[in-house]
Amino acid sequence: MPDSDIYQPDNIFARILRDELPAHKVFEDEVALAFLDVMPQADGHTLVIPKLAVRGVLDMPPNAWGPYMARVQKVSAAVKKGMEAEGLSLRQFEGAAGGQTVFHLHFHILPRWAGVALRRHGDAMEKDETLKANAAKIRAAF
Ligand code: 5GP
Repeated sequence: MPDSDIYQPDNIFARILRDELPAHKVFEDEVALAFLDVMPQADGHTLVIPKLAVRGVLDMPPNAWGPYMARVQKVSAAVKKGMEAEGLSLRQFEGAAGGQTVFHLHFHILPRWAGVALRRHGDAMEKDETLKANAAKIRAAF
């Protein structure tokens, strides 16, 4: 296996998991952590990561999918309700060529409203007070 395929424990999301970096968290239990994306493609853009140290979909142990996707579903419901979204887009990018930039598995939960286009992936930093306010709305919707 080439080095680039090995999980790197100092990736940004691993550091958020260890509380070495701050994040606007909306959900955490023994299986997963969810927090707001700092460069949101939509207001309330949330990331759900497993606590397991895996780079992507292809590294996830098959028996870990059920518990993890149950958290993705639970957080999706809170994001939709808290952000008063009309729909959601769920996305996952696998490998650099697939668009992945942080190599710890995550699903993007993107609130959607009819006629509102998504912003570009990883384009512009959101104001901290906006992230804080959106995280509070989502946390209140569980
Ligand atoms: P990927 O491109 O790997 O699917 O998604 C990585 C996501 O992480 C991007 O949408 C990017 O905006 C977000 N991101 C990058 N650095 C940070 C960070 O330090 N904190 C948070 N909360 N999100 C980040």
